[in-house]
Amino acid sequence: MSGKKYRLDRFISAKTTTPKSEVRFMLAQKRIHVDGQLATDINQPIDQFSHVVLDGNVLQNNSRKHIMMNKPVGVVSATKDEQHKTVMDLIDNENAADLHIVGRLDLNSSGLLLLTNDGDWSRSLMSPENKVAKVYEVTLEHTITDECIQAFADGMYFSYEDITTKPAHLEILSEHVAKVTLEEGRYHQIKRMFGRFRNPVLALHRVSIGEIELDNGLAPG
Ligand code: URA
Repeated sequence: MSGKKYRLDRFISAKTTTPKSEVRFMLAQKRIHVDGQLATDINQPIDQFSHVVLDGNVLQNNSRKHIMMNKPVGVVSATKDEQHKTVMDLIDNENAADLHIVGRLDLNSSGLLLLTNDGDWSRSLMSPENKVAKVYEVTLEHTITDECIQAFADGMYFSYEDITTKPAHLEILSEHVAKVTLEEGRYHQIKRMFGRFRNPVLALHRVSIGEIELDNGLAPG
């Protein structure tokens, strides 16, 4: 998950149990390549996706993985769960090992779920400063009233966390269906916001995160 960077000499030393002082000589002898280029600087930063070769032997060759899932209702956005099937159970073991979830969905929510092994990418999508829009289609038990629009835009105070939600955009699509756009992801946020209007959420489906839209051809799971 981490986007940690190491100096080249530290990385080679740890991988080969060679003292760092000797890595300098390896460089001078032109024995190290990083991302297809001859390495010349012991300070060169190396991250988990740098392709590193010493004397023709590959020391590290990880590729970035990005998975789009249409999460079904009833599956938990977690790596392990005692009671329910998890989204990781839906991915074959070989691919699931180093993945993490980019922005969870509740057990009863469905739709766009992203998984990756690239911590920098997931942080940039989820960081509140980047204001990445998450769009949900929400079906409600009762008629959606116009007053919800202003209340969502104003933000709501959640005493448990002592926060006020950021302005959210609510568009009424039909009597019982709304499109909600959030730039954050508080615990059960949409359900709690409609809860203020005593309007229970019957279905909640995420359709996009930033530029990434759920592929309509992707079956649940
Ligand atoms: N808001 C919710 O209440 N649940 C989700 O899964 C996502 C947003």
